[in-house]
Amino acid sequence: MSISTIGICGAGTMGRGIVLAAIQNGFDVVLWDISADAQEPAEKYIHGQLDKAVQRGKMTADGAEEAKTKVTFTTSLADMSNADIVIEAVLERKDVKDKLFSELEGIVSEDTILATNTSSISVTVLSRVLKHPGRFVGMHFFNPAHIMKLVEVIRGARTEETVVQQTVELAEKLGRKPAIARDVPGFIVNRVARNYYNEAMRICTEGAAEVEQVDKVLKGVGFKMGPFELMDLIGVDTNYEVTVSVWNQYLQEPRFTPSLMQQEAVAAGMHGRKSGEGFYKY
Ligand code: NAD
Repeated sequence: MSISTIGICGAGTMGRGIVLAAIQNGFDVVLWDISADAQEPAEKYIHGQLDKAVQRGKMTADGAEEAKTKVTFTTSLADMSNADIVIEAVLERKDVKDKLFSELEGIVSEDTILATNTSSISVTVLSRVLKHPGRFVGMHFFNPAHIMKLVEVIRGARTEETVVQQTVELAEKLGRKPAIARDVPGFIVNRVARNYYNEAMRICTEGAAEVEQVDKVLKGVGFKMGPFELMDLIGVDTNYEVTVSVWNQYLQEPRFTPSLMQQEAVAAGMHGRKSGEGFYKY
């Protein structure tokens, strides 16, 4: 099956980046969000990033204008009916994703691939709501999705091999570098990364160092971003949900224990860049 139209569900942090990767590589995109209010900020971001790419000489002005015409925003899931693949990037909550995928299966054709960008929820478990779980796969982008090259392609217990291969090919056509991973909690990157965030927050809750100091030191040894800057970019709320999810799936193994410091930031609405304040002010 050749993929020309990509449906993307969720116009938040990740959805926008996935849209950019798709339209910059010639795909048509239908972008769905549950809220009509999501359209304006998403378009502003997408257009802004395309204009920046022109300024940096990475795209022609005509190319950027053409890319802008390739995305259609909708709040009606029925508009996904012509998508060859739907990539979901909504809230990191199983109930929300379950509802979306069971509705989607009644709309798309039988051979449409259904992919989740979940950071931590089991692909196998999510596929259980579908009548045809063989078409379900994990397609885990990293933030910002149009810049970060890695995509983890997650093979669930029931994912068909052809679906894994088609997803790998699509990721390559989107200019990404796919890596196939098994469906274990946190997959590869997010499992390793939990320690980067959790240990940094432990240092601060013990009073051993301040947020800025931890970020500075870790950048000093070669990390591109410090853990607190990175949590603010990712979304402190999303990052927290992922930590809780990985911890629970590993039967609350102590090394994955979420931090009360992060729980407090989430409760206070300090969700990072997207809310104007997280561990830093924006
Ligand atoms: P976000 O909070 O920026 O966006 C979430 C989107 O979900 C919003 O557009 C919102 O309108 C929509 N939404 C809210 N309630 C909904 C509902 N009831 N039904 C359907 N949609 C609803 O989140 P994000 O950071 O873009 O994360 C999206 C997914 O991508 C999550 O599964 C997350 O784990 C995963 N992910 C995030 C990152 C990251 O760095 N932020 C990286 C990789 C994967």
